[in-house]
Amino acid sequence: AAKRAGRHQTVAHSPSMIQQGRERLALETALHHAIERQELRLHYQPKVSACGTRLVGVEALMRWDRGAAGGLVSPGAFIPLAEESDLIESLTEWALEEAARQAALWRGRCGFGGTVAVNIPSRMFARQDLPALVDGAVERHGIPHSMLALEITESGLMEDLEGILPLLHALHRRGVQISVDDFGTGYSSLKYLSELPISELKIDRSFVINMSGNSRAMAVITSIISLAKALHLKVVAEGVEEVAHVQTLQQLHCDVFQGYFFSRPLPAEELDPWVKAPLPLRLPPDATALSA
Ligand code: C2E
Ligand code: MG
Ligand code: MG
Ligand code: MG
Repeated sequence: AAKRAGRHQTVAHSPSMIQQGRERLALETALHHAIERQELRLHYQPKVSACGTRLVGVEALMRWDRGAAGGLVSPGAFIPLAEESDLIESLTEWALEEAARQAALWRGRCGFGGTVAVNIPSRMFARQDLPALVDGAVERHGIPHSMLALEITESGLMEDLEGILPLLHALHRRGVQISVDDFGTGYSSLKYLSELPISELKIDRSFVINMSGNSRAMAVITSIISLAKALHLKVVAEGVEEVAHVQTLQQLHCDVFQGYFFSRPLPAEELDPWVKAPLPLRLPPDATALSA
């Protein structure tokens, strides 16, 4: 609108636009200080084996604790903002470090051998030192590279596949697991997918949430699972909320489940019992019935 109005005309901004601009700026400034003020947290959500009895890993999901200024802020409210600048790089570095620290704690204290997954935004692919960042975090905390999984969205991956391929290979050589997040919402080149050093596809939760009574969502899920099997990749369903989802996904031979049915993302201490649990894991009554 400003361009169309021409150079010599002033454009009136509505009060709400000005207000929004101010709030954004305030949020960005506060986010800049969030790391040094130790306001960032990682919550962890279990990834459960299809039999419902084994914790195969956890996904680290970031929260921003603004205390009196606004409580716990979810990533949807600040990650997109951070992604517009190099702020996202500091946040990602912090998350890698914190996830490695927690992985070491669980490994030492509870003998945890699963993976801890960190979300890596596509902006980080421009960082040629990403493998070195990973090495640093892993070595400082004395965990094997294979305990770390990196989640990359399908659309982020396909943005510049040729460009990031060397990076993916470098990570893969180290034993880092690569997981393709929100799968089914992007446009994968199937030719490339078969050649990528990835270990897992995560079916986007929009398909899982719509699977009951929606044959299109079911068709997408079924296709993703057979694609994963054909490529010898593990397949994870996100957004598993209901026992019916669990049952159907088990019948389709989905390997791993993640969702509110099993657990919401929780602070690390609250997951200690999950991490420690002798097999089989204690699950909600519905799921226990399934594995019995
Ligand atoms: P994502 O990586 O796809 O993470 C899954 C999101 O689905 C999480 O939302 C999780 O809480 C939510 N979820 C899990 N199970 C269920 C379920 O059964 N039902 C429903 N409705 N939702 C479920 P969250 O924590 O709000 O994170 C949203 C997104 O923010 C993530 O999507 C990820 O893209 C991004 N994000 C989170 N943490 C980080 C981070 O540390 N770095 C980066 N770059 N992005 C992050
Ligand atoms: Mg993820
Ligand atoms: Mg996802
Ligand atoms: Mg998602």
